[in-house]
Amino acid sequence: MPHPHAVAGMVSRLNDPHYARWASQVRATGGCRQPIHLRGRVDHIDPATGELLHRYSTRAEPGGVLRVPCKTRRASRCPACAEVYRADTYQLIRAGLAGGKGVPETVTGHPCLFVTLTAPSFGVVHTRREKNGKVLPCHARRDSGTCPHGRVMSCTARHGTEETRLGEPLCPDCYDYAGSVLFNALSPELWRRFTLALRRRLAKTAGLTVRELREQVTVSFAKVAEYQRRGVVHFHAVIRLDGPDGPTASPPSWATADALEDAVRHAASAVAVTVPAVKGEPARVLRWGAQLDVRPITMGGELTDQAVAGYIAKYATKAAECVGTLDRRISPLDDLDALPLREHARRLITECFRLGALDGLADLRLTQWAHMLGFRGHFSTKSRRYSTTFGQIREERAEHMRAEAVSTGRLPLFDEDTVLVITEWEYAGQGYSLGDALLAAALTGVPLAGVALADPGGR
Ligand SMILES: [Zn+2]
Ligand SMILES: [Zn+2]
Ligand SMILES: [Zn+2]
Repeated sequence: MPHPHAVAGMVSRLNDPHYARWASQVRATGGCRQPIHLRGRVDHIDPATGELLHRYSTRAEPGGVLRVPCKTRRASRCPACAEVYRADTYQLIRAGLAGGKGVPETVTGHPCLFVTLTAPSFGVVHTRREKNGKVLPCHARRDSGTCPHGRVMSCTARHGTEETRLGEPLCPDCYDYAGSVLFNALSPELWRRFTLALRRRLAKTAGLTVRELREQVTVSFAKVAEYQRRGVVHFHAVIRLDGPDGPTASPPSWATADALEDAVRHAASAVAVTVPAVKGEPARVLRWGAQLDVRPITMGGELTDQAVAGYIAKYATKAAECVGTLDRRISPLDDLDALPLREHARRLITECFRLGALDGLADLRLTQWAHMLGFRGHFSTKSRRYSTTFGQIREERAEHMRAEAVSTGRLPLFDEDTVLVITEWEYAGQGYSLGDALLAAALTGVPLAGVALADPGGR
């Protein structure tokens, strides 16, 4: 049974004369859990005479505000908006594999690989391993003995998929927490060096300089970061060879899938990032893990364009929450014991605070990114010429919504070129009161769990 305040809130909203308009705003946010409230207006002015042709103001809206979707990519914050982001990512990745959205279908003939770059080991963790459909023992070692902390470094359990122990170290005191968070912090740089080394290797294979390579081949990629249970990031990437002008041009005949695979394998093993020694911490050389997965993407083959696009789009809406950390910034002043953190995540966060306080590592901003276990990179990125852009996809949707606003009489139909449009918006809060949240959930069919309650706004 909802809280009495919530019931009172629902009753007053339902009795509000503006209820119908409020409900239609809520429906228009597509079930956003934490819509942004905007106050402002849109004026349409005749540039020749200065005459005000039409004004839309939020003053007449319920509560004097317009509610718009929060547009987060994170499913943990807003499932409805994350779903939009996932669908957009799918379209964007798929267009780069199969054509569409301005990318010609001939792109299907370009060499294209799905590559997974992993992190190295920072200590033995509980894992679920499968072989031919059978679950194997986690880490069975007959003669492993005990670690310096007296723990047996063997685990014969066959772990289930949802066991909380998965990803946790056999001995937390042996585990290299510093290495783990430093790897996360430097993985974007490792990725950058990987893409440079890849181009160098391709050029060398073809007997070209890197500059000459650019005149013949564009290396296009789209990648997404995925957190493993142990709290380090993996990168999944689509890497494609195009001609000099991107997907519209064919790559030269020497630029084959084999040449690309060779360059990927070479670059993945060749690159490293050095962390200089700082007070009490030794210098470290960070590299990709030995596990490197390289697979060709083919239409209708073992690994299809739909499967890859679906995979990348899925991870694009996730963050580190599966590791048991929080989906918001954590400060060194917070009482970590009082926060709902998994023990392994708590230790990774503590390590971020410890290393983040060291002078020589300040650039890594580990304290600010402790909740992300040190990773501060973008979750999904792509090279300029991979396919279409999010901006382009959103533009199409905005155009569709504008057409709808015109057809329902909320916006006037003016020729964009002959009318001056002046918009003025200010942030006026976010989220729902509990009563509104219950009504919104009923209106949009999006479950309520974890709903973000209203921020009074107006700051
Ligand atoms: Zn939202
Ligand atoms: Zn185990
Ligand atoms: Zn130990």
